[in-house]
Amino acid sequence: MEKFEINILGCGSALPTTKRFTSSQMVNIREKLFMIDCGEGTQIQFRKMKCNFNKLNRIFISHLHGDHVFGLPGLISTLSMLGRRGELVIHAQPDAEKVFRPVLDYFCKESDFRVCFESFNSNVNSVIYEDKSVKVSAFPLKHRVPSAGFLFEEQARPNHLIPEMIAFYQIPVHCLKDIKNGDDFVTEAGELIANSRLTRPAEKSRKYAYCSDTAYSEKIIPWIEGVDLLYHEATFCEADLARAKETFHSSARQAAEIACKANVKQLMLGHFSARYPDVSLLLKEAQSVFPNTIAATEEMVVQVGE
Ligand SMILES: [Zn+2]
Ligand SMILES: [Zn+2]
Repeated sequence: MEKFEINILGCGSALPTTKRFTSSQMVNIREKLFMIDCGEGTQIQFRKMKCNFNKLNRIFISHLHGDHVFGLPGLISTLSMLGRRGELVIHAQPDAEKVFRPVLDYFCKESDFRVCFESFNSNVNSVIYEDKSVKVSAFPLKHRVPSAGFLFEEQARPNHLIPEMIAFYQIPVHCLKDIKNGDDFVTEAGELIANSRLTRPAEKSRKYAYCSDTAYSEKIIPWIEGVDLLYHEATFCEADLARAKETFHSSARQAAEIACKANVKQLMLGHFSARYPDVSLLLKEAQSVFPNTIAATEEMVVQVGE
C-alpha cells in the first residue's frame, strides 16, 4: 500500500513544557509532505524526525493562535538558509498574511524562494487544495477565534492489472493506462473484453481528519464521518470540563464521543494541557467511550488505515 502516514511533531497545547512541543504534524502521502500547524519548535522536531525539508511544499494552518503558528518565521528562515528554492504555500485564514508578511519581509529578504499565502474561509466547508494524490478540505470548528479542521482524502487509485489476462489477450502497452482507469478492451477480432476481467479493483481511498482546536461540536460529524483516522484535540480530562467549556476546548471523553458518533475507525488524542505530564487518565476516559483510541506523543508515526 502507498504511504499515508502522520508524523507528530508537537501535540501539546498553548503552554510549552519540557516534554511537549506545541501543535504541528506532517502528513506524508506518497512521499509528498504537507504540514498541519506550525507551533514553536516545529523545525527542531522536523529535523529530529529526519523529514526532508525539500519535500515540504504546503502548510495548512488551522487558526491564528500562537501555539499553532509561532514556528512559521523560524522554519521559513531555516529553509532559506538551506538554499530552498521554488515556492512554499501557506493555506490559512486571510489575517495570516497580514501578520506574517511583514515579519518575512523583514527577516527573510534574501530568500531564494517565494512564500505564498492562499487564504480560505474557515466558516464554510470547501476544498482548499487538490492534486493527483490528495484532496484537502477545510471545515469550521468551534473555538474562541475562527478555527478550521482539515480532511485529507487520498485520491482514487487506478485498478490493478491482472498480468495473466493482459498476456492472454496480448494487449498492447499503450492501452494499459486506459484499462487501469476502467476502459474495456476490444480484440482485433472485435470481441469485447470487460474491464472487470482484466483488472482487480484498487484499494479503498483512505481519509484522515484533523480537528484542533475545538470545543465539543456535533456539527463537524458529517465532514469526518467514517474516516480511517481522526486526530481530535483532548486538552482536558473530565474533571476539568468546566475549564474546557470556558476556553472552547474539548475533554478526552468528548473527543471519543465525536469519534463514536462519526463512526471513525481510529481516534488519536492530542493538544494536551501542560497540567497533565502523564495523559494516561485522558486516554482511559476516551477509551471507555471509544476503545480504538491512542494518545499522540512527539515523534510518533501513525499509519492511516492500518
Ligand atoms: Zn491550541
Ligand atoms: Zn486555539
